[in-house]
Order: sequence, then C-alpha cells, then structure tokens
Amino acid sequence: MEKHTPIKCSFCGKDKHDVSILIAGLSGHICDNCVTQAQHIVKDELGNKKTLDLSTELELLSPKQIKQHLDEYVIGQDEAKKVLSVAVYNHYKRILYSTQTSNDIEIDKSNIILVGETGTGKTLMARTIAKILKVPFCIADATVLTEAGYVGEDVESVLTRLLQAADYNVEAAQRGIVFIDEIDKIARKSDNPSITRDVSGEGVQQALLKLLEGASVNVPPQGGRKHPEQKMIQIDTRNILFVCGGAFDGIEKKIASRMQTQVLGFKQSKTAHEIDKTNMLQYLAPQDLKSFGLIPELIGRLPVLTHLDPLDASALRRILTEPKNAIIKQYIRLFEMDKIKLSFDKAVLDFIVEKAVEFKLGARGLRSICEAIMLDAMYNIDEAPDAKELKITLRYAKEKLEKSKISSLKVA
Ligand code: ADP
Repeated sequence: MEKHTPIKCSFCGKDKHDVSILIAGLSGHICDNCVTQAQHIVKDELGNKKTLDLSTELELLSPKQIKQHLDEYVIGQDEAKKVLSVAVYNHYKRILYSTQTSNDIEIDKSNIILVGETGTGKTLMARTIAKILKVPFCIADATVLTEAGYVGEDVESVLTRLLQAADYNVEAAQRGIVFIDEIDKIARKSDNPSITRDVSGEGVQQALLKLLEGASVNVPPQGGRKHPEQKMIQIDTRNILFVCGGAFDGIEKKIASRMQTQVLGFKQSKTAHEIDKTNMLQYLAPQDLKSFGLIPELIGRLPVLTHLDPLDASALRRILTEPKNAIIKQYIRLFEMDKIKLSFDKAVLDFIVEKAVEFKLGARGLRSICEAIMLDAMYNIDEAPDAKELKITLRYAKEKLEKSKISSLKVA
C-alpha cells in the first residue's frame, strides 16, 4: 500500500492543518505566513536597491561624455571641465582595472584642486560629476577642521559625512567623491614652516595628507566626539577622489610676481606683453599655491590643478536660463504645478543679471534676486484660481526688488 505523506509548507514546515492557506507549487507548497514574510523581504531588498543605486557597478564614461554632461549643468569653465573630466576618467579607470592588470605599473591617484572666485561653480562641478557617476558625494568645509585633539572637527569627520551620503555602504563610500571647500583658508600664515603651533592651518594640512594619499582610517559613524562609545568603521581612502576648492584671494599677485621674475630672468621681453593681465589665474602653477601657504606635501597629493574663470554678465545671463536646472526653468515648473503658465520678459532677465553684477553677488545672487521678485507672486498663488498665465514685466520686477530687503545689499 502507498504511504500517504502529510502536506506541509516547504518553507516553514507547518502542517496543512496549522495554516490558513497552503499554495501548491510544482514540487512543494507555501503557506500564507511565508508568502507574507517573503513579500516583506522582497520589498526591503528592492527598497534598499533603490536608495543604494550608488552601490551598483561603476559606470565608466569617457572624458568627452563626462564633459558633455557637465555642459548641461555648468556654464563656461571649459578648461576646468576638460581637466576635471580627464582626471575623473583616469581615477575611475584606475579603480576598475586595478584588480585586472598586473600590478607592475601603479597609477597614481589624481586628486584635484580647483582655484576660482567664490560662486563660479567649483562645488557645482564636483557635485555634478558625482551625480553623473552615481557615486556618493559630500562637502566638507576646511575651516572647521582642526588638528586632532583641538576644538573643532577632526579630519576624519569628512569621511563620516561621506559614509552618511553612502547610506553607510562602506564599499560605495570608498569610491565616492569628497569636496573640501575653502582649502585656501588653511594656508599657513607665513611662507616659513611654523615654529609655533598652527592647529587650524598647517596642522590640518598635515592631517589631511593621510586622507588624500590613501590610508585606512577609523571613522566614527555618527561623527564628532559626542559619542565616544560608538564603534568605529574602517574606511580605505585609496579610491576616494578628493576635490579641493578655494578662492585663493590675492593669488594673482603671486602668479604675477613669479612670471615677472621668470620673464626678467630670461630677458624675453616679448613674453612680457603676451601675458594676459586681465586673467592671471590661467597661468596658475603649483608653486603659486606654495607661495600662498599650502605645504608642498599637500600640493603633491593634489596633482591636478585647474582654475575657474570669473563669471561676467553674459555668463550670468546664460546661467539664469540655460542649465538643465536653471533658476528660471525651476520657477516655471513651480507655477506649472499650479497650472499657471509663467513667463518672463527678456528685459527682466537682463535686469536680474544687471543687479547681480551691480550688487557683486555673482551667480549665487541670481537666486536671491529672483526670490525677491517672485515672493509676492508665489505667496498669492491661490488668490486668482482662474488665472492661467503670469507674465513678469520689467516694471513689476523693478517694483518688487525695490521693496525687498535685497536692495540694501548693494555693495559699495
Ligand atoms: P563655488 O565656486 O563657491 O563652489 P558654487 O558651485 O557653489 O560656487 O556655485 C553657487 C551657485 O551658483 C550654484 O549652485 C549654481 O547655481 C550657480 N553657478 C555658479 N557657477 C555656475 C556656472 N559656471 N554654471 C552654472 N551655474 C553656476
């Protein structure tokens, strides 16, 4: 006689009589409880994948492709875009192929230093690259960093931020991009190595060396020293790309004096008047950073050096409307959500640029000026439910700006 085998859930082993429903498959069964649990697991996994889009395989774009993407968001700065695209390409190529090739030639890390006035697109450029490559990105301010043990943040806090940006996925964080802003503010106070302690200048530069060149660093996952009991996470910085940015106010003078001596030294009077004195930054060289107060070891670990040009009125005008997420496009989209077709007279756009130049606010000022002009219209958005269109005229813009506090921002 054939033996009767009891029907059970193939996942939890519960008997048919102990569950509400048992679904039959080709060679097994599943109970309602296990279906619900499996559903939770699937949901969690898919959810994780979504937030950690970062952790999936690195997608290597060619330098030209990287620059094309940058062009969509950043106006002008062609030289910097090109230099950055190549550096980023080499950096990620180095990561991708480091496991495949024989290790006889080791490719150096290409950390980058961007020099240019504030508001010219340094952060924007680094952020955009991280977005294109889908790698974690964080911004750290060099001015709050101090040498370990002093009031302020230890340099390791930079990595805490990256870890947080990577949703605590260590592997993703280890190939992320860190933007260290205001690197010029940690220049040492004099060109001579310090005799007294300089904990927020040279001290930080020394501390940063370790991170930049690649080392295993113990990182407090919650940051700071407030949680001494927290378990450290070890992060290898070898494949993290560091992009440093700074305005280096007054570096033009250092460049000029270096070039002057060079020109005199070689008695090449012809070169002297070939120098374009209106934009000295284009002649920037590593030794100028040294004269400014960065230590040679730090400069050595930031081998890719490029500059950003100051933004003139025509660049500001393009910034207003051309980038993929241009400010004007954002306002139009905001009003569209309320089914209102917003438009700006051309004269208004020129006026906004004119004011940004007059107030010496640069690209950042464009947004504040737009906000001042648009505030009332946005506040009263529900007042005219039938309104289908809103046209901002020059008269309206002038009147709103006049009334706003921003007019008092005018720089003498
Ligand atoms: P910084 O050089 O001080 O890092 P940011 O990159 O933060 O300047 O720029 C501030 C804002 O100004 C950006 O968010 C962006 O909206 C705008 N901006 C600055 N430069 C450019 C540029 N070249 N192209 C497009 N937008 C820019």
